[in-house]
Amino acid sequence: MKLNGAAVATVAVVTLLSFLAGTSNAQGYDFFYLVMQWPRAVCNQPRSNCRAAVPQTFTIHGMWPQTNSGGSPQNCPGSLRDVRSSGRVDRTTLGAMDRQWPNLKRGGRDPNSQFWTHEWNKHGTCSRMQPQDYFRRVVDRAASVDLLRLLRSNRIQPDNRLYRQADIEAALNVYDPVVKCNDVRSGGRSYKQIHEIRFCVQRDGNRVVSCGRRTQFRSCGNGDIRFSR
Ligand code: 5GP
Repeated sequence: MKLNGAAVATVAVVTLLSFLAGTSNAQGYDFFYLVMQWPRAVCNQPRSNCRAAVPQTFTIHGMWPQTNSGGSPQNCPGSLRDVRSSGRVDRTTLGAMDRQWPNLKRGGRDPNSQFWTHEWNKHGTCSRMQPQDYFRRVVDRAASVDLLRLLRSNRIQPDNRLYRQADIEAALNVYDPVVKCNDVRSGGRSYKQIHEIRFCVQRDGNRVVSCGRRTQFRSCGNGDIRFSR
């Protein structure tokens, strides 16, 4: 088949656009997802391998660079062997991380640091920040959203009841985050439950902002959602 000049140009433009859409902008990412998880929903899964004591509050999963086109750069240069012993994060910040960002799962000698190291290597390295700046921002942004209180003040609480998606959306409408569900079995039935809430944080990591469109529910189906106790 012979392509004329216009066809070649069209193919080149389409290829370039799909390349740009699939990767990222010149800065590598446009915003972060600050991912908060509901420990009960992580740990009521088969083979979850969770520690015995599960916090009764939302904890941090991570802060992930994202592009506007849906990309998620990962595993950039700058990995660490162990965040806590690296000397790259000060003690005050490590203390806040121990409180707000526990590893819910069983691990080796220092399970929390093992989880942070996984998150740094996979996501944090693509933030173009030094570990100290990145981790400080994660804990500060997470602390700035009092998520459980926000839900409670809208009468949404972890009591194993089912909540309407519209009510969850209304409670979180300052942020328009992404609500992610997983499945749980109880009393011979399967329910969708609140698993994670993903907030949008601006590129410099300095402010939680609205995600700019209506709250998205992911893997939640169309029905009511359980908030597990
Ligand atoms: P990502 O690797 O993209 O940061 O997140 C997904 C993974 O994180 C999943 O495999 C999930 O099981 C894991 N995860 C979620 N919460 C925890 C936790 O508290 N500790 C550990 N070690 N992994 C977790």
